[in-house]
Amino acid sequence: MKNKNEMSLEFDALSVNEAFARTVVAAFVAQLNPTLDELSDVKTAVSEAVTNSIIHGYEMEPGKIVLSCQTKENEVQIVVEDSGKGIEDVEKAKEPFFSTKPELERSGMGFAFMEAFMDEVEVFSKKGQGTKVTMRKKIGQALSGEASF
Ligand code: ATP
Ligand code: MG
Repeated sequence: MKNKNEMSLEFDALSVNEAFARTVVAAFVAQLNPTLDELSDVKTAVSEAVTNSIIHGYEMEPGKIVLSCQTKENEVQIVVEDSGKGIEDVEKAKEPFFSTKPELERSGMGFAFMEAFMDEVEVFSKKGQGTKVTMRKKIGQALSGEASF
């Protein structure tokens, strides 16, 4: 397959690793020649997913997060996976403003941001087993068409 590339890594579920995770993904996605806006969208989405694993999945207890990234032609797929407590009701969790931790000043917008900034977001979760968030985005769309004005 043309231009196929993948990487995966595992790191501790610590807040200090949020910046690490989004920077690593940005460096990987850079091969696709993203615009600054696209890069910033991808970084925000990765941050939200990783933060969720740390705060909700492991509730700040020790744990591991697996991050993987594939690029194929002009598309990137990012997977963020934890083995934490899982989500009771995924559809409800995805609703804007829904949070199980409002006391921590969470606004319940993480999944809404992931959906807004990426083309596709799939969440697979099992209570007591963990959560897997798969996100896809086409990169470089802005270059492919001529301005219509
Ligand atoms: P914000 O992201 O705005 O700070 P939030 O994290 O509560 O607030 P979302 O990111 O949209 O909002 O997540 C919604 C809810 O889904 C969370 O409150 C939590 O209950 C659940 N959730 C999300 N990710 C996970 C995860 N990895 N493990 C367990 N529960 C999760
Ligand atoms: Mg969140």
